[in-house]
Amino acid sequence: MRRFFVQEIEAKDGLCTIRGSEARHMTRVLRMGRGDRFILMDGKGARFLAVIESAGRREVLVTLEEPLPQPLPSPVEITLCQALLKSRAMDYVMEKTSELGLHRILPFSSERTVVRLNEERFANKKQHWHELARSVAKQSNRKVPVEIGTLSSFEELVESCRVEYALKVILWEEETATDLKGVLRRSPPFTPPPVSSTGVGVMKFIGVVGPEGGFSEEEVRAAEKAGFVSVSLGQRVLRAETAAVAIVAIVQYEWGDLSMRHPTNPGA
Ligand code: SAH
Repeated sequence: MRRFFVQEIEAKDGLCTIRGSEARHMTRVLRMGRGDRFILMDGKGARFLAVIESAGRREVLVTLEEPLPQPLPSPVEITLCQALLKSRAMDYVMEKTSELGLHRILPFSSERTVVRLNEERFANKKQHWHELARSVAKQSNRKVPVEIGTLSSFEELVESCRVEYALKVILWEEETATDLKGVLRRSPPFTPPPVSSTGVGVMKFIGVVGPEGGFSEEEVRAAEKAGFVSVSLGQRVLRAETAAVAIVAIVQYEWGDLSMRHPTNPGA
């Protein structure tokens, strides 16, 4: 059944009005009309089975028939710290890691980042990424869109992660002693924190991926001082966007919900 996304579902007597691009998509592109059913979801994870009462050019009036169960969050909360990349590559990272269930993405600038964004340009970029995130949430049936952080420097980012209770890795293609597989297989490398809302301790993973030009050794050492483990993804040098997607997929596969059954809800 088709899914449509609004930032917040505001219902009055079980009726809700959809406006803007979603309304236009429903009526002009998909030619949907009275009696058509669909799933309405919002940015907080709410979702309802909905039916169209009336469809105008700019507004669609719908009845919320029944609340629907929300997808369970992954048992591992993954944060990707991604150095700013050129536009298309950054969009690719946002879209693919979000489909894979990334919880949060934190963009940063580092010694070798080529892209420089001032506040205004970053604000525009962030708006574009939010739209991308909503579209992915709808298409991939995520509970909520990926969170997008503010732009920071590498130093600020590493410092802010120092106190995080998480497995923290920095991806470095020149690392020769430790690989991601070894670190993840020391399972669990840390005991999950106390019970959270999902009924079990949510494990936390933070991965840092560099820019097209990579990290300097000084940057890697600074990250290690803040509790990050430098890991290799093998002998081939991957593009940053490839490394970002790979690490989210690997961690979701090893610890998360890239599987048939939800580990914390065996009966699911
Ligand atoms: N300096 C590299 C390019 C950096 S690749 C070169 O020699 O061309 C961009 C980013 O992807 C790196 O900063 C790193 O975070 C990640 N990456 C790429 N290949 C990797 C590998 N084999 N192991 C670990 N990280 C890798």
